[in-house]
Amino acid sequence: MEKELRLIDVNKKYKLSNKDYFQALYDINVEFEKGELVSIVGESGSGKSTLMNLIGGLDSEYTGQIIAGGQDLSKLKEKELDNYRKNKVGFVFQSFNLISHLSILDNVTLAMTLSNVGEKERVEKATKILKMVGLENQLKKKPTQLSGGQKQRVAIARALINDPEIIIADEPTGALDSGTSLQILEILKEIADSGKLVIMVTHSEKVASISSRVVEISDGKIVSDRRNENYQKNASTFESQNLEEDPSKKGKQKQNLSFWSSIRLSLHNMWASKVKNFLMAFGVSIGIGSLILMMCFSSGITDFIDNTMKSYSNPQIVTITKKGEGNIQDVMQFNPFTDEEKNELITGINQYLDEEGISFELTEDDITPGFGMMAIATGAKVLYNPTGEGYGDEFSDPIPNEELESEAIYYLYSVPPYYSETNIIAGEMGSATGGLMFTQGINNLVGENPIGKEVKVTFTIRVGNNSRPVEVVDKICGIMDTSIMSNFMVLYVDYDYLASIFAEEGVSDSFAPTTYYIKTDSEETTKAINDYLFSTNKYSGSIEDQLEGMFTSMSKTIGTSLVVISSISLFVSAMMILVVLYMSVSERTKEIGVLKSIGARRKDIKRIFSSESFLIGLLSGIFGIIFNLILTGVVYLILQNTIGLAPISYRWWYFAVAIGVSLVISVISGLYPASKAAKLDPVEALRRE
Ligand code: ADP
Ligand code: MG
Repeated sequence: MEKELRLIDVNKKYKLSNKDYFQALYDINVEFEKGELVSIVGESGSGKSTLMNLIGGLDSEYTGQIIAGGQDLSKLKEKELDNYRKNKVGFVFQSFNLISHLSILDNVTLAMTLSNVGEKERVEKATKILKMVGLENQLKKKPTQLSGGQKQRVAIARALINDPEIIIADEPTGALDSGTSLQILEILKEIADSGKLVIMVTHSEKVASISSRVVEISDGKIVSDRRNENYQKNASTFESQNLEEDPSKKGKQKQNLSFWSSIRLSLHNMWASKVKNFLMAFGVSIGIGSLILMMCFSSGITDFIDNTMKSYSNPQIVTITKKGEGNIQDVMQFNPFTDEEKNELITGINQYLDEEGISFELTEDDITPGFGMMAIATGAKVLYNPTGEGYGDEFSDPIPNEELESEAIYYLYSVPPYYSETNIIAGEMGSATGGLMFTQGINNLVGENPIGKEVKVTFTIRVGNNSRPVEVVDKICGIMDTSIMSNFMVLYVDYDYLASIFAEEGVSDSFAPTTYYIKTDSEETTKAINDYLFSTNKYSGSIEDQLEGMFTSMSKTIGTSLVVISSISLFVSAMMILVVLYMSVSERTKEIGVLKSIGARRKDIKRIFSSESFLIGLLSGIFGIIFNLILTGVVYLILQNTIGLAPISYRWWYFAVAIGVSLVISVISGLYPASKAAKLDPVEALRRE
């Protein structure tokens, strides 16, 4: 009859260094049959565990042959050896080696989970086996809630779950008191009596005396092999239970650990160290949250420019100002064109249009002058008399108005030709004979309805080294909505009216066009003229254009710096995940050994660890979104309350980016720890204390 297990000339050497070996087993020749309860005895260090690991397919570095159930283990591929461990042998360890974060039921069914057996079948079978070892009421408990004897019963149930032919128990009673030891031994005996081969390592004479055969090892050699003639084979409860599987289902066991099972296992493990995982996800979420904030800024500024600028521009008007030198405040101050400069401009444009073959000919008639300056640069203020009695000569007591002085106007402008009645949101346009138009900020100064109220505006014109005050006293005739400029306090005055004010004040020599508006015949001409102006590097466009440019470059600067900052923080996050997962691999070495002993493949272990990093990524992404919403809210409030403008907009896909980026980071960071876990040597892993 074919023996269940045969070892032929087995030699095992442990490699100590490149040159040194330690031989742990010498020429082992031994055969075992089904139904035997074998005790392996021998002094510590004699090679018992080494032998068990070879038989169990955990260690494949040996010479000679081990033939189990007709299979020559030395010829099996890694995958086949995994299957051998999964289906043909069951391990029981001295220190139980249960996975502490899994319930008893999950510990027992783990080997089936690895084979992707359905939950119903798993639970049914595990319940049945746990009942046989006397633990039918403990399914939901965790290993720490059991006594040593109970834990060892769970381990036995786990070893039996895939109905193996061979049970290997390395000092199964070593950690138990003698009474409990006997109970465990009883169970192992029953298993043997049901027709399985049970090989156990023991130090106990008593345990050995109960077994059917005692093999003694000394210094790596079998020194005696005795059969117990008095061994009584009993009727076994294990025999009466039908552990046979439906043969049609056996084929299915080729399947790997499923995605959902690995997620479930990872969730259990993550829950077991929830504080660590929570903190880690929180750490990652800071990077993710700031990344999204950056994107919100960038789109917010784009939206702001789009909404406020684009809808106002007139494609057939070109705005030309002189490009100032120096800082932005100098640029926006009073900087008028001289007559020569004007002529040079006209000639230049016409020449360019000619060269480009555009038929438009620019004449004086197409040009409208404009005046504009950044009033705040030189000092300007609006005074308002709440009694409604007006200013002029009667204005003698500035004290009640003092608080208004802080509300300076930012810009003084003649009304550009591209603004019309449609830009008036209250009141009406001013004319050549009078009327002041403000942007909405004036409401803060004079109350809800400013139309018809009289104000005094003073500002300073600087010509060369001379500063000259100009004073305007007039009624507010209209409130304008003027694109981007509405965000500033701007006073718009009709160009001719402004000229007459300067004349009246005796400073008409300080009044000259700072801006020219050209009415073109087509968008094409507009574009050509703009191209020319740009190429000269001597002119800029309207204040709106300049502000748009400023905002765009600002958004780019903010964007890049935030990208840099968030990349650094994302990199730090990645390192953090890597370190934490790496440490978790060390912490779980024993668990990985157990998983391997019950037939987990490298792939399965990789999958368990990868799904953990996947889950950490998912969690971090969700935390990142929450963190971002809070952060954005705070930033929005701060900006609104300080500069009155918070260019922040969301796109729905930013949230997808948050989840995506955090998944990518954590999955990539998890690759190395996962592959390290998968490569762990099971024998070493199990030997680890
Ligand atoms: P037992 O289980 O009988 O106490 P082991 O099988 O664990 O003994 O060990 C047998 C011998 O092999 C011991 O001398 C031990 O030091 C040695 N040994 C075990 N594992 C290794 C290893 N990984 N590297 C080197 N020597 C080892
Ligand atoms: Mg040992």
